Amino acid sequence: MKETIRVVNGKAKAKPDPNALGFGSYFTDHMFMMDYSNEQGWHDPRIVPYAPLQLDPAAMVLHYGQAVFEGLKAYRAEDGRVLLFRPGRNAARFNLSNERLTMPQMDESDFIEAVKALVAVDAGWVPELPGASLYIRPFIIATEAALGVRPSSRYLFVIILSPVGSYYGQGMKPVDIYVEDRYVRAVRGGLGVAKTPANYASSLKAQELAKREHYDQVLWLDAVESRYIEEVGSMNVFFRINGEFVTPLLSGSILDGVTRSSIIELINAWGYEVSERRIAIDEVYRAHAEGTLQEVFGTGTAAVVAPVGSLCWNGERIEIGRGEAGEMAARLYETLTGIQYGRLPDEFGWTVTCLE
Ligand SMILES: *Cc1c(COP(=O)(O)O)cnc(C)c1O
Repeated sequence: MKETIRVVNGKAKAKPDPNALGFGSYFTDHMFMMDYSNEQGWHDPRIVPYAPLQLDPAAMVLHYGQAVFEGLKAYRAEDGRVLLFRPGRNAARFNLSNERLTMPQMDESDFIEAVKALVAVDAGWVPELPGASLYIRPFIIATEAALGVRPSSRYLFVIILSPVGSYYGQGMKPVDIYVEDRYVRAVRGGLGVAKTPANYASSLKAQELAKREHYDQVLWLDAVESRYIEEVGSMNVFFRINGEFVTPLLSGSILDGVTRSSIIELINAWGYEVSERRIAIDEVYRAHAEGTLQEVFGTGTAAVVAPVGSLCWNGERIEIGRGEAGEMAARLYETLTGIQYGRLPDEFGWTVTCLE
């Protein structure tokens, strides 16, 4: 970073019960902030007490939605070190998202330096309980006060931290999925490739309707033919059919997950192929009818691997794996979390030491 990060220390809050963290309910003592203007570029990097933001009511993010976020975790290893998992991938994707939303680029090394500096200040918040971690949420919003429709000339970059519990309390519980054929999440040429709040806003309605019918998540189909599978909830999705691993090709409306690419590399390293190709929902149903649909699972930073136990499409429900996580889903989960927490050797060079 060109300027040194200014640190203003805040009061230490009472820590929550480590056994009841949940996801994204508690926030640490500090946050990172940095401003951008067209004239000055990025400036005034600072770590300050966690507090509400002051925004002009005309701030462009509130009206035209210029915003991008990232999500990664800091993991406490058994030897006390704090590890990050492939933060360079998040930094690169952050820039890709920003590019799509006409927002400024940031040096990848500055992004990582900001994350490390903030985690160092709030290191006491990195949970020690197995499976728990410190979720890191960097985001950027357009702050110029103006209502004309054009890209903002000012932005605010913020990082907040949230201690989160293990996604799986008692083992991996497969999720029930509704295959959404009315609403779409993203279209090719739209914002699907960017990690931006708009994609989440467009997903909420289908998600709520599915929840009401007691499904956990929806499976998103492509917006043109309502046929090709894109993502599951806010995760990428994998299928194992007759021994072949398949995941949808990054076709322009799918987010390029860090977990997705790590899972592909792991499966390859184990000697299996992964086909990145279009996969239709009717192909999945046909495989199920023929008895060759072995596993379905989602992948993402929050859950790492989420096995799918059932799908419902066109009024027809199919079950996968008899209520248990598939063999490969379980093996991938154990291996990836093993690397993330430093329990297993990191042959890929994925982990980055954040604090010794
Ligand atoms: C963040 C996200 C993912 C998962 O990405 P990871 O980098 O693996 O956490 C998948 N799909 C969507 C829509 C996302 O926003």
